[in-house]
Amino acid sequence: MSIAENIAAVRMQIARAAAAAGRDPGEIQLCAATKMNDAQAVRQAIAAGVDCCGENRVQELVEKQRQDAYRGAPVHFIGHLQTNKVRQVVGKVDLIQSVDSLRLLQAIDAEAARQGIRQDILLEVNTGREESKSGFYSEDIPAVLEVLPNFSHIFLRGLMTIPPVCQEPEDSKEFFLEICRLSVDIGRKKYDNVSVDILSMGMSGDYAEAIACGSTMIRLGTAIFGSRNYGKSHQE
Ligand SMILES: *Cc1c(COP(=O)(O)O)cnc(C)c1O
Repeated sequence: MSIAENIAAVRMQIARAAAAAGRDPGEIQLCAATKMNDAQAVRQAIAAGVDCCGENRVQELVEKQRQDAYRGAPVHFIGHLQTNKVRQVVGKVDLIQSVDSLRLLQAIDAEAARQGIRQDILLEVNTGREESKSGFYSEDIPAVLEVLPNFSHIFLRGLMTIPPVCQEPEDSKEFFLEICRLSVDIGRKKYDNVSVDILSMGMSGDYAEAIACGSTMIRLGTAIFGSRNYGKSHQE
């Protein structure tokens, strides 16, 4: 199957999952998780109509931007970002989805201020409370929102999560629902510099469940590009 065929099949699944949930498929964005796929594959995905691209590693982002791989689509950063690398990402991407600590928030704000821009971000929530994963715990999010007005060069657009690997996709739902409830709670309160219109959740194995639970952005790698070849260069 070609990338275009994969994307067509994914769009049909999105439509089906949205219909089953009584939702408009138009409110669900398809983000191509492009890690370990080259510029040519990225261009094919964009030509086939993905809504945006998500890159995991700074090095790959810089390399593909140098190759002008993302032309025609917004690009997001979706991987763990070290504070010493914010300069290579802030102002270079439309959205940083993976803001996982106050320290990083601070570093992004400082860099955005230096550039005289406002950076859109999502807060990453560690729904499964896994030690191996980064992200805020749900109960810490309100405190982050309280200090957000101190960061005038950041605009919070929503939440992102990667739930624990589950035996059955169905088992992911409790994690997706937790984030959905959190996002609704935030939306009810009025915070400055906050608009929670993006709920980024759902990957190749569980995006139908994520859509059932209110996802507005799914991030797909394998379902679009096929399985990744984790060779010796792999260093996530
Ligand atoms: C790789 C990756 C994805 C996509 O994973 P697949 O299972 O291949 O669809 C989504 N989100 C993040 C943050 C990723 O790193």
